[in-house]
Amino acid sequence: MIPFSPPHIDDAIIREVTDALRSGWITTGPKTKQLEKELATYVGVQDVLCLNSATAGLELMLRWFGVKEGDEVILPAYTYSATANVVIHCGAVPVLADVNGDDFNIDIQKMEAAITARTKVIMPVDIGGLPCDYAAINRVVNEMQHKQKFVPATAEQEKLGRIMVLSDAAHSIGATYQGKRTGTLADATVFSFHAVKNLTTAEGGAVCLHLPAPFDNAFIYRQLNTKSLHGQNKDALAKMQKGNWEYDIVEAGMKCNMPDVLAAIGLATFRSYENMHLPRRKQLAHRYAEAFKEFDWAQLPVIDTSDKTSSYHLYMLRIRNIHVTQRNAIIQNIFDQDVAVNVHFKPLPLLTYYKELGYKMEAYPVAFDNYSREISLPLYVDLTDEQLDLVVKAVIKARHDVLSVS
Ligand SMILES: *Cc1c(COP(=O)(O)O)cnc(C)c1O
Repeated sequence: MIPFSPPHIDDAIIREVTDALRSGWITTGPKTKQLEKELATYVGVQDVLCLNSATAGLELMLRWFGVKEGDEVILPAYTYSATANVVIHCGAVPVLADVNGDDFNIDIQKMEAAITARTKVIMPVDIGGLPCDYAAINRVVNEMQHKQKFVPATAEQEKLGRIMVLSDAAHSIGATYQGKRTGTLADATVFSFHAVKNLTTAEGGAVCLHLPAPFDNAFIYRQLNTKSLHGQNKDALAKMQKGNWEYDIVEAGMKCNMPDVLAAIGLATFRSYENMHLPRRKQLAHRYAEAFKEFDWAQLPVIDTSDKTSSYHLYMLRIRNIHVTQRNAIIQNIFDQDVAVNVHFKPLPLLTYYKELGYKMEAYPVAFDNYSREISLPLYVDLTDEQLDLVVKAVIKARHDVLSVS
């Protein structure tokens, strides 16, 4: 069986984790802080906060900005449920926008049309690792007509004076847009280090802070850190200092810090991320493109453009002129050939919870079309060229088998 996305675990990772285990300090401490520093340098921002998931990072940022009942947050209909669930957690309304038919990202015109006086945040998602069109998104939120419509309800909202752009970059660490890395393209950007993501800590995530002046991102880092630890004004490491036992709780915060044992996995992986992981992923994505380009039925995903490079997180192939049932049959056939594939994603309106809230799939026809023809192929550093060629063969055969009987 060719697996879909196994984690890359090598001796360097095992050594780093063992080092954490033997150090006497296993929760948030020196390794997590080191990972934050290295991420900040890599991305090109001053302040990065590591957490136990991207979900926690997104929710923490929404809470920091004061998103609550009565507010709206715009996000694509085509994303993982985490992007929308955090909006629900805050009591606000996820407002969905349809997506593009070339890449899978949010349609900027649909996004802009969804803005109302209740809109507090826009959450673009870099699907598959390809950055959204951030110049256009940032232009929209800075337009006078939208700024005038914006109704600030907290000091932070007053200070920003416009809709906040919170990038869900769960897929796109290391990707670039106009020569700049994700992490610097929005007011705040959240990476995921979940087991299947490009850079993993088993579970984990990070918030890159990039709010404009007069915001003090170092101060916001401390605010978020407190919010990630029950609103406790001292973390466990600070309390370890001699006689420094006393603490206070300043709000009913969340509990979503990253432990050092997990940060160790990320630290070790990160050392080879730029020079081994990204180039290998790129190579594999281009090998798929080469293999499929001769087939009219294969709609290749956008992986690089003149101003974007992907993190090559997913290889999202679409097959032209098929229906959901045929797509599903093709997937079954591929599995029967011992190749694991996946679908990214089931659009939010197809999920029971969102369906019951009244979201209608018909309102997002491009998202549905993308979904109904999409198959994500295995793409990870340890995939060999030979395995990739087997995946290609399996896809070609499966499509042929399914379409010749229907
Ligand atoms: C994986 C993923 C998340 C959530 O990441 P966690 O670290 O598991 O919380 C959010 N958004 C998208 C698009 C994802 O794929």
